[in-house]
Order: sequence, then structure tokens, then C-alpha cells
Amino acid sequence: MPTKTKKKAAFKLTYATMFNPPEELHTRYDKELARIKASLGQEYGMIIDGKEIKAASKIEHRSPINQDWLLAIFQKGNADDARAALAAARRTFPKWSHTPWRERVRLLRKAADLIDKRIYEFGVVMSLEVGKNRMEALGDAAESADLIRYSCDQMEANKGYVVRMGKDPLKGYTATNTSVLRPYGVWVVISPFNFPCALTAGPAGAALVSGNTLVMKPATNTPWTVRLLAECFRDAGIPDGVFNYVTGPGSNIGQELIDNSEVDGITFTGSFDVGMGIMRSFANGRYARPTILELGGKNPTIVSRKADLDQAAIGILRSAFGLQGQKCSACSRVFIERPVYQKLVDKLVEQTKKLAVGDPTDRNNYMGPVVNRSSYKDFQDFCAELGKSGKFLTGGKVLTEGALAKGYYCAPTLVADLPLDHRLWKYEMFLPITTIAAVDSLDQAMTLANDVNYGLTAGFYGSEKEAAWFFDKIEAGVTYANRPQGATTGAWPGFQPFGGWKGSGSSGKNGGGVYYVPLYMHEQIQTLIK
Ligand code: NAP
Ligand code: MG
Repeated sequence: MPTKTKKKAAFKLTYATMFNPPEELHTRYDKELARIKASLGQEYGMIIDGKEIKAASKIEHRSPINQDWLLAIFQKGNADDARAALAAARRTFPKWSHTPWRERVRLLRKAADLIDKRIYEFGVVMSLEVGKNRMEALGDAAESADLIRYSCDQMEANKGYVVRMGKDPLKGYTATNTSVLRPYGVWVVISPFNFPCALTAGPAGAALVSGNTLVMKPATNTPWTVRLLAECFRDAGIPDGVFNYVTGPGSNIGQELIDNSEVDGITFTGSFDVGMGIMRSFANGRYARPTILELGGKNPTIVSRKADLDQAAIGILRSAFGLQGQKCSACSRVFIERPVYQKLVDKLVEQTKKLAVGDPTDRNNYMGPVVNRSSYKDFQDFCAELGKSGKFLTGGKVLTEGALAKGYYCAPTLVADLPLDHRLWKYEMFLPITTIAAVDSLDQAMTLANDVNYGLTAGFYGSEKEAAWFFDKIEAGVTYANRPQGATTGAWPGFQPFGGWKGSGSSGKNGGGVYYVPLYMHEQIQTLIK
């Protein structure tokens, strides 16, 4: 007889489900927070060829939540450390690339499981070093494990990317033709501060599972998260030297990783200017090498007069102000059909005023600080500029009351009446600032939406028929219609593969999707005549 006891459905954390987590998640995060805060200030080395490497210069790693909190000491690595890491990756490439792919899949799945096991540690560390709220931080870690698994799944689904081709119509001979995808060699992954785990683990997982060896360099603001990731690779049993973790300024150790001829391919995720600079320097090598760039965004949301305005309001706010607007997928522009403009703006303003800003490790706060002093200053400069030509509906200022004065807190800022030719309609500010305009038609909205160098994500609210029109016309790699979980944000591997068009990306294929892993391999045709 079938049992009548209802089994509680297991909770699967994604960016779409994170708004109603089970209580246990909070309890465990709080416990880990207390443990980590009691032992701050330790020193961490780089990991090169399996060894802990210390540099002569150090980085005092402080929290954007409170500058008095010294989180840890990290190494200010230099070009020599980059060269040592590349040499280790070169030395280990022959063996790793000839390790059967099923064994590589096994080790990487183990690493993914270790991330899950340490997820609260990852979450707390990301809250402390990035300023992410707890759910965003846990989401980043969970996504990282899933990105690695997705690359493993793809390797399996494609049976190691070995394909029998047709037989040539030869008389008197038999030909077997086989297509194999083979790894390039030494791969460099340079990641940004805002999704330090996922945007290192995603490319690293794909590079490693396909047989490349790896050097990864995190952003200066986020060495700790990526150190934890490196520990998961190490503890999973991935051999010494196959993955290497170096820390230090992009302009020095990062630039060496770009300029060195030992590098066979690179994945860079970060800003447009740095990424394009990297592409140009990287092109100075002896020959062309794969350069996967995942760059910025200036993501629009279009709202039709037929939209459900409650869905639109919540989706827009989540995407505008989640992670303090510092997502490449953040909704930074909103175009609303005039008949519903005022009604939607009223909702947006009312709900923005309710957003709690403060220490992001506190479960009651939705927004934490911005990542560093330079972003904090940018916010003040942009607000000064925006105040001259537009009107603040909310925010427009930094928050310095009480404990907030110790960190980099900015008020969620909505700007109206900014002339449509103002430069900040096209410039990625990467802060909790969203500009809003009324439009006369959906066609006008679409023209404006597409009139930028970027094409990362985009959102729409309206009828289903209009949504089909939106998907067809919008120039972006990740598009959503009628989604209250986030107008332009919240992609998850396997569900919404993530990548951009135009100035937002170079490969035209999205991470966490079916076309991604092959980017890390070159094809060889093997013809054997018998
Ligand atoms: P960033 O300033 O461009 O830095 C990204 C990485 O590049 C960091 O590790 C940085 O190191 C390093 N770097 C800087 N100069 C370098 C050089 N000359 N050579 C080699 N490496 C160098 O970006 P961010 O401020 O960390 O992140 C925000 C940007 O990333 C935004 O534009 C956002 O849209 C974009 N992003 C895109 C995606 C996507 O999937 N398309 C996802 C997330 C973020 P240092 O920190 O040491 O300078
Ligand atoms: Mg930056």
C-alpha cells in the first residue's frame, strides 16, 4: 500500500526560490557567521603547484560592511607568482589532459559536493567580503556547485565529445573519420568581485573538466571566496598544479597572465574597458587564442500598458537593487508606456522606501554596502551629475547614520525625468541607481532599449503576444517576460544559461548552457585509412 505520509519537498536554493527559504537556512548561516567572526584576521597564502605560497607584500582585507573589520591578510602576488603558476599548469597539462574524462568528471563532481558541504562558510565569507545579503551569498555558492555539475553533465551527455563522422567514398580502402574535442592547454580565469564564486567556478569547472589546467585570479576585493573554492578543488583530489590560485592586483599579476605566451586560453569576466583591453593585449601573442569575455550590461526593462504592475514593480526592484545594483544583469533602465507610468512609478517608490539597508549578514536587511571606497565615491559623483538633469524619486545620497558610517552604504536610487540623450542612459554605473522614463509606444521603448553597446539581459512585462514580439526584437542574451522573481536578474545554470550579445560578451554562447563546454576545446579530425 502506498504510504500516506507526505514527504516535505526538499528545498532547492536558486535565485528564483531564495525569497522564501526554510528557517533552518537562517539558523545555520547565523551559526557559521558567529564562528567566522570569532576568528577573523588570519593570513592565507596563494596555492601554486599545491603549495602555500606567501608573497613579500600583503593585502589587508577589510569588509565593506565596516572598515574596522580586518577580515584576513592576503598575498599581494606579482608577475613572478603568475609565471610560477603558469609553469605548474604547463607541467601538469599532459597528464591531466590524458586523464580519462570520466575521472575528471568524478573529481569535479566531488569538488561541487564539497562546495555544497561548506555552503554556509562560502555564504558568510561572501557577505563579509562583497557585502552580499545572506540569500544572495548562499545563492552564489549553490550556483557555483551547479555550474560545475552542469559542465560535468554536458561532458557525459556528449560522451567526452567524440563523434564518428561519415566514411569517405573511397574504392579499395576503408576510412574511419572521428571528430574529437581536445583541451587547449593552460587556461586563465580572471573573475570579478560581484559573483566571485560562480564566475570563477563556472569557467574553472568547464576548463578543468575538458582537460585544461588552470590559473585563477580573483578580484582584489574577493580573494577569500576564491581561496575557499581552490580548497574544494584541492580537497576533491584534483592534482597539485592542475589548478592554481594567485592573488594580487589585476594591473600587475593580472596583466602578466594576459601577456605571458604560456597561456592558451582565457576567460575574463568583468568590465567592458578592462575586458577589451585584455582582448587587445592578448591578440599580441604569436597566434590567435580563445578569449572568452563576459562583460558589462545596461539592462532595460520595458513595461507595456497591459502589464501586471504588481509583478512589474517587484521584479524591477529586485533587479535594480539586489546586490546593491552591482550585478552585470542589474536592471538599470526602465521604459514604461505612458498610460501606466504614474501608477507603476508610485508602486516602485512606495516599495523602494521600504527596502532595508544595513549590515547584510543581518537577515532583515535586503541591501548591504557597495563593494569599496571607489564605488562609494562613484555613487556620490553620479548622484551629483544626475541631480542636475533629472529628478530623484528615491535616494540620491549615501547613508551614514550610526554604524552605517563605517561602511559604504548607498540609498536605493530611482531617477526620473533624465533627458533621453543624457550619457548615463548608456553608461554602466554598477550601483543602486536606476533611471526611469515614460514612452509613447512599445516600439519607442525597444529602440531605446537596443540603443546601447551592451546586450546582456532584458526584461518585459505585458501580454503574451507582446512578449513574443519582445523576444524577437530585443538584442540581449538573457531575456525574461513577466517574471516577478527578477525583471532582468536571477539566471540559473541549466535553466537560464547566461551570456551577452554585442559589448556584453565575446563568444555568443552562454555559461551554464549546452554550447559552453566546447568553447574550452579545439576540434581535431582523426582520419585513419585501413
Ligand atoms: P573589473 O574591474 O573589470 O575587474 C575584473 C577582474 O579583472 C578583476 O579580477 C581585476 O583585478 C582584473 N583586472 C583588472 N585589470 C586587469 C588587467 N589589466 N589585466 C588582467 N586583469 C585585470 O570588474 P569588477 O569591478 O570586478 O566587476 C564588475 C564588472 O564586471 C561590471 O562591468 C559587470 O557588468 C561585469 N560583470 C559581467 C558579468 C557577465 O557575466 N557578463 C558578470 C559579472 C560581472 P583587480 O580587482 O585586482 O583589479
Ligand atoms: Mg572594478
